[in-house]
Amino acid sequence: MTEHSIDRTFWTAALMAAAAAIAGCYSPPEARNSGPETNYSSNRTNTDRTPLTTNSNMSNENTKAEDKTGFAANLPDGFAQPKDSVEKTLLREYGAMFVAQGVTVPRKIVFKDEAEVAAFQSTLRTANETIGGFKVELQAAAMDELRKAMAEAKAQGLSITPRGDDSARRSYNETVSLWKSRVDPALKYWVAKGKMTQAEADRVAGLSTYEQVEEVLKLEEKGIYFAKDLSKSIIYSVAPPGTSQHLSMLALDVCENDNQDVRSILARHKWFQTVVSDLPHFTYLGVEEKDVPSLGLKKTTSGGRSFWVPDI
Ligand SMILES: [Zn+2]
Repeated sequence: MTEHSIDRTFWTAALMAAAAAIAGCYSPPEARNSGPETNYSSNRTNTDRTPLTTNSNMSNENTKAEDKTGFAANLPDGFAQPKDSVEKTLLREYGAMFVAQGVTVPRKIVFKDEAEVAAFQSTLRTANETIGGFKVELQAAAMDELRKAMAEAKAQGLSITPRGDDSARRSYNETVSLWKSRVDPALKYWVAKGKMTQAEADRVAGLSTYEQVEEVLKLEEKGIYFAKDLSKSIIYSVAPPGTSQHLSMLALDVCENDNQDVRSILARHKWFQTVVSDLPHFTYLGVEEKDVPSLGLKKTTSGGRSFWVPDI
């Protein structure tokens, strides 16, 4: 390789890194945190805002009574208990959000369609922000703490940015598209591998979304996995339609998730990792870390990170 081509390689890499930093999330490991504020920007000044309260008198907000202990006791009033093994699994893997405090949480584990999600989302107090060029919409209390976390990160020369336009709020139909982006290629793969027939794959592909979730999880019990890398359950890759914490506007997928300092800052502002293996994903729980166990969540460690999951 000539010196000239080495030079070109260097500059191509540098330009790609710069472009990735501008785009948000796709910077290579060595480029992370190389400069403060590279992809942090906000189109509003929020530092002088009156902080939003995290508790209000809204009757549908989840508020913790002092005598409540355990996960079940901290679920919102009227919560529909899991009705089958699929819902039990989903509650165990994604359920931390249901005990979040000072915010509105769904009373069912799975929204069945866009209308249900839209009706729920219309009841929420929300706040918008453009961060790193992407629109972020969250429940107001969650956004308020995120703003504080971002300010703290900035003071330390760090940034907290979303991975893309769908990093916070999602609609039901977006969760369907994400789900299909895993299920359809996996079905092709397993047919090619001789693990299922084309007829079986066609049958699964033709099911209603809710039925398909059940069927996919059953196939995974037999080692036919649907995650993107086909080696683990799809639920650690994408949330089944109607179950994503993003539908409740209490979740944010963060670019800088592999930075321990960033994770600590988010935790100080009531944002925690609650879905094991979903590394960019953070959940607003509305309490300080010392109070998380009293919500009925237990800490589990995976890959050097802490995740708070339902203790059930
Ligand atoms: Zn997420």
